[in-house]
Amino acid sequence: MNLIQSSKILEAVPKLSAEELESLEESLISTKRMRDPIHVAADGRTIIDGNNRYAIVKKRKGIECPEPVVHEEVQTELEMLAFALDSAFSSGRMATKERKEQIRKSKIALAKEFEGQDKTKTQISRLLGVSRQSIGKWLGPADNGGDRSDEDPIKKAKKLSDGQKNDISVRLKAGETRNDLAGEFQAPRSYIDSIAREAGLTGEHGSNIRAEKTWYLLDEWKELPDEEHVKILNKSVKSVFNKQDTENIEWAQWSWNPVTGCRHDCPYCYARDIANRFYEQKFEPALYPARLWAPQKMPVPAKASEDISYKNVFTCSMADLFGRWVPHEWIDLVMDEVRANRQWNFLFLTKFPQRFSELENLPRNAWMGTTIDCQARVDNAEKAFAKVEHGTKWISVEPLLTPLKFKRLDLFDWVVIGGASKSSKTPAWTPPIDWIVDLHKQVRDAGCRIFYKTNSGLDGDLRIREFPWVRPDEKKLPKELKYLDMKK
Ligand code: SF4
Repeated sequence: MNLIQSSKILEAVPKLSAEELESLEESLISTKRMRDPIHVAADGRTIIDGNNRYAIVKKRKGIECPEPVVHEEVQTELEMLAFALDSAFSSGRMATKERKEQIRKSKIALAKEFEGQDKTKTQISRLLGVSRQSIGKWLGPADNGGDRSDEDPIKKAKKLSDGQKNDISVRLKAGETRNDLAGEFQAPRSYIDSIAREAGLTGEHGSNIRAEKTWYLLDEWKELPDEEHVKILNKSVKSVFNKQDTENIEWAQWSWNPVTGCRHDCPYCYARDIANRFYEQKFEPALYPARLWAPQKMPVPAKASEDISYKNVFTCSMADLFGRWVPHEWIDLVMDEVRANRQWNFLFLTKFPQRFSELENLPRNAWMGTTIDCQARVDNAEKAFAKVEHGTKWISVEPLLTPLKFKRLDLFDWVVIGGASKSSKTPAWTPPIDWIVDLHKQVRDAGCRIFYKTNSGLDGDLRIREFPWVRPDEKKLPKELKYLDMKK
């Protein structure tokens, strides 16, 4: 492996202490293997993530390294710097206040350079992996380069002339949909609703506005002509993630469901219970095209810099996006948004992991996961993940229904463990402690991070909550408790 270390990147990314470098070196020497690949720019040689590891493997022979991941989208020197800073920001090794502040300052300087190159705020936000709000604060309110999407939608709507408002009203009466008109006039949907109300088109007891199509079943979507797909998908709409308010999914503060429905029929499925109650189409697979806009329309909250769960989006929490029945086109639509929105981490879970291996160039913000609830799923998962080269890899052992034995847990970065919450068909279940202890040891031996859910039966300090890429806190014995030979 003969790669280039850019001096600009080495200068911009905060340095590790001698102690930290030593511990990194020790862990590489002891495992004789680099778990995470080095990331390089489009030239195939310049390192944009992994300089420290590269320096160590050059110095110490005999450490096995995976092929570097090439990022075709990272081409210019500034883009390389942006990627390196963003990766450093998400890395556990950089998780001190001072280092994060240093990275933030470098990002601000870089944002200004991008602005000088006529990049729009939206582009800068994606390149640096920060919200557009932050970019707005760093660069000031003036727009650059005509990035219309940065404009406040309400102000924009007020720019509509009386003639346009009249036109909207007439077309609503003729039965055109509110979303169509919001897209065509580049106005917020709520604004079109208000015009509809003024025109007497809505009422407490019903509406004469044609019911709007927000989701499409598999056959409905297949039957639409390609031009109609393009029209539906290009309609820009305001869309946001759902805030997760339950403690069930503490590792992600958001959920995003551009695709819903699943045909696996697991007895304990809570998603099916919710869908049967609230969705008109119940649990039948469906695409919600407007929801595809959410990752780019929604800013990353400031809290995400301290708490990674605010950056994490449980993607298709009401579906199995990789089920056999899901068309490639739907998967591609979702994965395109994942690639284009590096400011978020997208967490996937499937019971059909074979399909992951068909995906190419997965970015690190795609956390590809599979659910393993019993031993029968282990072999399949290990075979499938052995072929997945990129992204962050994880397992959700929820609910843990049998003791588990893994052969290749080292393929994964993170393991989440839990029991079963009560569903309409199944009772709540807490796994026996012996199963958990055995699994815990396997997870630690493989070097993965671990996260115990509230329904795992563990509590207090025992309920470990780590994230991939973040080094766990080391628990130390208080000095007051040290005696006999412990004092040495
Ligand atoms: S795979 Fe997940 S979403 Fe599908 S039925 Fe099973 S638990 Fe429900």
